[in-house]
Amino acid sequence: MNAGRQNLVGLDRQELERLVQSLGKAPYRSRQLYHALYCRREREVSALTVLDRNFREALAARFEISYPSLQGEFISKDDSARYLLCLQDNTSIETVFMPEEDRITLCLSSQVGCAVDCRFCFTALLGLQRNLSAGEVLGQVLAVAKARAIPPGSRLNLVFMGMGEPLLNLAQVMKAVRILADPEGFGIPLRRITISTSGIVPRMGELAHDPRRPKLAVSLNASSEEQRSELMPINRKYPLREVLRACRDYPLRPRERLTFEYVLLDGFNDSDADARRVAELLQGMRAKINLIPYNPGAELPYRASPLERVLAFQQILAERRIPAYIRISRGQDIGAACGQLRLAGMLKGEG
Ligand code: SAH
Ligand code: SF4
Repeated sequence: MNAGRQNLVGLDRQELERLVQSLGKAPYRSRQLYHALYCRREREVSALTVLDRNFREALAARFEISYPSLQGEFISKDDSARYLLCLQDNTSIETVFMPEEDRITLCLSSQVGCAVDCRFCFTALLGLQRNLSAGEVLGQVLAVAKARAIPPGSRLNLVFMGMGEPLLNLAQVMKAVRILADPEGFGIPLRRITISTSGIVPRMGELAHDPRRPKLAVSLNASSEEQRSELMPINRKYPLREVLRACRDYPLRPRERLTFEYVLLDGFNDSDADARRVAELLQGMRAKINLIPYNPGAELPYRASPLERVLAFQQILAERRIPAYIRISRGQDIGAACGQLRLAGMLKGEG
C-alpha cells in the first residue's frame, strides 16, 4: 500500500470514465479497466495487460489496486472462517467465509463498529468508529476471495450481517452493491445479495425505490414494542409498528420474500405467547423468519434459548403458516457466528 497513490478499487463506471478521460485515453479503456478490476479481479496495475504499456505506466504512477490486508484468519471445525482485515487507517473489520454444498456465502461488514447499540450484540460494544467506503466493502470480497482462492465466476452469496448497520451507510453500501451486481463487475445477482437492518425506517423507504436493490432482511428480535425497545434502543426512534409498515410497503419481486431475523433469548422473547404475537405481526406478509440461536458472551446479559424452546417457537409459527427456519450458527468455535463479530482480541486486550 502506498499512501501517495489512489486506490482504484471502489471506483464505479463513471469515475473510471472520468479518470481515463483525464489521462487522455479513449472511453472504451474505462470499460476494460472496470472489467479487469472487478470481473477478472486483477491485483496489480502492471498486470492490466489489456491496456497498452504506456497507459499502464501512467496509471501506475498515480493509482494502485489495494485490498484490506489480512490480519488474522480463524478457521472453524465446520470449515467456515473468520477474517480480521486491517484497513488503511489501521482500524479493523471482520468478514466471514461460509462454504456450503453448492455455493459460498460471505458475511460482510458495513461499518467499523456500530452505533445502534443493541443489548445482545458484540459489535455494539465497539461503538461506531466510522463508515466503510465502497472500496472497503468490495475489498472484503476481494481479500477473502484471494485468501480462499475463490475463482472469478464462482457462485457467491453476500449478506451484510457482519459489523455495522448497512442502512446507516447506505450510499457507500449501495455503490458497492451496484458494482457487485453488475455483470461486467463481480456479476453476483441482486437476489444473492442481502442487506440486514435493525429497521432504519426512512432508509428502508429509500431502498424500496431503488430499482437495483438487493434483498432485505429485518432484525425483528421481539414480539412487542416494549420488548423491542429494551433490546434495541433504536426502537424508540423507529418503533416496531413503523418498521412493519415499511416492510408492508416494500415492493417485492416475483417469488421474493422479506426475511425477518429473530434472535432467541432464554426467558426474554422465546415464550409460546411471543411466538403467537410474532405470527400476528407478520400475518399476510410475504415473509419468512430465521430463528437465530443466540451467541452468548460474558459481556452480554442474555442466555441462549434451549433447543426445545427454539423448536416449539418454530412449530407455533409453522402452524400459523409463517415459514420459520432455524439458522444453524456456523463458526461458533471461532467467534464467527452471527452477531459475534467483535474483534475478540481487541476487546480482551490481546490485540
Ligand atoms: N446491523 C444489522 C446487520 C448486522 S447484525 C442488523 O442488526 O440487522 C446481523 C444479525 O446478527 C442481526 O439479525 C442481529 O440481530 C444478529 N445478532 C446480533 N448479535 C447477536 C448475537 N449475540 N447472537 C446471535 N445473533 C446476533
Ligand atoms: Fe448494530 Fe446490528 Fe449489532 Fe444492532 S445487531 S448493534 S444494528 S450490528
